[in-house]
Amino acid sequence: MMQFARVVDAYEKIEATTKRLEMTELLVGLLRDTPKEDLDKVVYLTQGRIHPDYEGIELGLAEKMVMRVLAHATGLEDARVMRLWKEKGDLGLVAQEAIGARRQKPLESSPLTVSTVYQHLDAIAREAGEGSQERKIRLLSELLGNATPREAKYVVRMVVGQMRLGVADMTIVDALAATFATKADRARVERAYNVSSDLGEVARVLAPKGIDGLNEIHLKLFRPIRAMLAERLETLEAIFERMGKAALEYKYDGLRVQAHVSPKKIELFSRHLENITVQFPEIVDGLRSAVRDRAVIVEGEAVPVDPNTGEFLPFQEVSRRRGRKTDLDRMSKEFPVTLFTFDCLLRGEEDLMGRPYTERRKALEAILKPTEGIRHSTVRVTDDVKQAESFFDEALQAGCEGLMAKALDSTYDAGARGYQWIKFKKEYSAALSDTIDLVIVGAFAGRGKRAGSYGALLVAAYDEEEDLFRTTCKLGTGFDDETLLALPDRLKAARRDRKPVRVDSRLEADIWFEPTTVLEVRGAELTVSPIHTAAWGAVRPGAGLAIRFPRFTGRWRDDKGPEDATTTKELLEMYRLQLKQTKKGSVALA
Ligand code: ATP
Repeated sequence: MMQFARVVDAYEKIEATTKRLEMTELLVGLLRDTPKEDLDKVVYLTQGRIHPDYEGIELGLAEKMVMRVLAHATGLEDARVMRLWKEKGDLGLVAQEAIGARRQKPLESSPLTVSTVYQHLDAIAREAGEGSQERKIRLLSELLGNATPREAKYVVRMVVGQMRLGVADMTIVDALAATFATKADRARVERAYNVSSDLGEVARVLAPKGIDGLNEIHLKLFRPIRAMLAERLETLEAIFERMGKAALEYKYDGLRVQAHVSPKKIELFSRHLENITVQFPEIVDGLRSAVRDRAVIVEGEAVPVDPNTGEFLPFQEVSRRRGRKTDLDRMSKEFPVTLFTFDCLLRGEEDLMGRPYTERRKALEAILKPTEGIRHSTVRVTDDVKQAESFFDEALQAGCEGLMAKALDSTYDAGARGYQWIKFKKEYSAALSDTIDLVIVGAFAGRGKRAGSYGALLVAAYDEEEDLFRTTCKLGTGFDDETLLALPDRLKAARRDRKPVRVDSRLEADIWFEPTTVLEVRGAELTVSPIHTAAWGAVRPGAGLAIRFPRFTGRWRDDKGPEDATTTKELLEMYRLQLKQTKKGSVALA
């Protein structure tokens, strides 16, 4: 039986050092002293948790509640405990002092073992439902009743979810390798961690079976793996120099999702391995019909899409979907996300992580039939800088942040950041500081909540030289319900059956308008676009300028005639100014 006091000894020394090597040695000493059956528990406690992240079993008791327990367990007055808390700012230190000064010592107390501490903490974390508060309080009081002051410090830090040891997961990996194998085997230990996302599991296998035992740790359905990460380079030339011919994918600006799919169950995990299944019912539904009945693990980026314009929305619209089920359902209808899948790690029984990118991509396309809400990432294989540049422009126009280049022969390296994937983004400057006045030239029929009205407007800038109105974006955001309902009436007189001669558009609107009405728009920035015709060919042949994330400010510019709207020449000047402001952007687009 391992005494908790031994663990606390090590923790105090670890806390006192800032050197990673010293920390590792202290940990190795601790792991060597730990009996096999307690090893996983010691590893979890050192991580400041009691289960791997993805199980979502959290401690995190409210500080107020812990203070009440402390007062109760020590016989100190609430006010004194509160004073200590204000003084020290660390509830662990408060516990240490309070337990040291306690009035009533428990009649019977036995030294805490690792196993007792772990079981109590586990029980506290799992308590739920009616009366659970009281039971948590009782469990914690019991634990503190038997704790020495030093032990109390760590018990309390654990329950409030603030261990403060400063031990990184990778330091634990180092220590496990050094304890049960050699330093040279570190990579294998890390691999086992990256695939299982569970250091306790790694310890459970290592201790009895040694390093070769780790071969049995495989990709497993419903246990997330640590995400493969990308390096960054500043130019497309540099990317091709490194990779040669590469797969370029749109880099979507959303939330990374790892989807585990079986015919019976679907679970979604975030980049941080949290289970986010309930937050995205539309992805779960989509996958159910997109995946042909087999077990798969796929990865993708979830992006909110305006159902009316089909355009991407800033991710803040759904970034932390929380709350009750009815709210989640409503949000998933109002701003549904589309999942753009880009990788496939498991197909049936087959682990694809060690296969080259091209093969995984093929597998992805074979097992997943795109639907409206589940699509494949847009990809182009090339080694030509010019082609890559126009693909980059298309990506920005589509509402993406840039490109992700992937080496064609690269395996999926879980948890690793390397040059097998390279991100190439444009850094955005602050929002376009000026508002822009644009002319309504068309509209698209509304869907969903906007059925019967317009879903989005097609708006244009004025080309003085040619006396034409050239489109620059679809506008669907910033209208309240009332304004929206009134739109058809407001625009009735300007309505035309076909595109008016002074309108230059590559898009086919559902309804056309004679350019008459001007409104004020704010956007995030200007991008090069093959779809919109404003300043056509001025920046790049075959492309115009578009506004990213346009929003109606609410202000109708009835004081302006259509020829008083922002001109395409002004848009071009704004674009050039924006390039100067964002050095990186100018490198990217130069
Ligand atoms: P990182 O994830 O590399 O630590 P970060 O969180 O700041 O950095 P980014 O720099 O934006 O993210 O780039 C990486 C992320 O881009 C990925 O984690 C993923 O969520 C997202 N992404 C979007 N499109 C793709 C794609 N086609 N392939 C891979 N990742 C993509």
